[in-house]
Amino acid sequence: MRKPFIAGNWKMHKNIQEATSYGELLLHKIREAGVDSDKVEIGLFVPYIHLSALSIIFDLSGVGVGAQNMFYEDKGAYTGEISPSMLSDLGIRHTIIGHSERRQYFGETDEACARKIRAAYAHDIEPVLCVGEDLEDREAGKYEDTVRTMLLGSLKDVAPEETEHLTVAYEPVWAIGTGKTATTEQAQEMAAFIRTVLADRYGSDRADQIRIQYGGSVKPENIAELMSMPDIDGALVGGASLDAEKFMKIIAYDDALLGKESKRVRMIPSSARS
Ligand code: PEP
Repeated sequence: MRKPFIAGNWKMHKNIQEATSYGELLLHKIREAGVDSDKVEIGLFVPYIHLSALSIIFDLSGVGVGAQNMFYEDKGAYTGEISPSMLSDLGIRHTIIGHSERRQYFGETDEACARKIRAAYAHDIEPVLCVGEDLEDREAGKYEDTVRTMLLGSLKDVAPEETEHLTVAYEPVWAIGTGKTATTEQAQEMAAFIRTVLADRYGSDRADQIRIQYGGSVKPENIAELMSMPDIDGALVGGASLDAEKFMKIIAYDDALLGKESKRVRMIPSSARS
């Protein structure tokens, strides 16, 4: 049984004040709703400068605060980079690898992703590997080939037992930040395809355990339908995760994920409330 994994990606947004008040508000809402961390995992991928403050806010809350990228070397003359050991030193246990914006604007290749994933595992950091085709490949019908190449290239050094700590995010580039969501059927078709590629590489028992997120204009209005698909185990949410209220609605897409506490709170008769 794969536990749903809902994660926000703030990209390059929010100053310190905005980040901490968002963190406090989201934590309050998660507690108020009684989100059951046994039933859903929550992640928040934030700019490096916010990692410390948000890790303190979300300490012991079940929300995993993670980085949006990292370099593969541990230290050295790599101006502007952040290493896995620096993240690990801060207690960070999650990072995105190979987001399409890193690939598009910073020339990140599958080979670089492979090295980053290796380095992440060496420091007990769990990667969310992003893969997805651009509009040209989608329209040319080459999307499966593109995604297969990305997966196999980025995972080339990952051993079967390491997949226990792997999440794959299927993010069609044409649906990121465009307001254009893949249809539920397109998202499911590609999640199932990704699972087949993983099964060919690692065997179907391993592939069945790997969580596959969908990302691309996820919002409160479409999350429940996406999550009802058999191969979609979570979402990587960009724009809609910037607003704590909206992100909370995405996290609480199903009442069954809310624990006993919220049900008890809802059952208090109005006459007993001040
Ligand atoms: C993302 O940044 O990974 C993403 C999916 O963005 P958005 O939700 O804004 O499309």
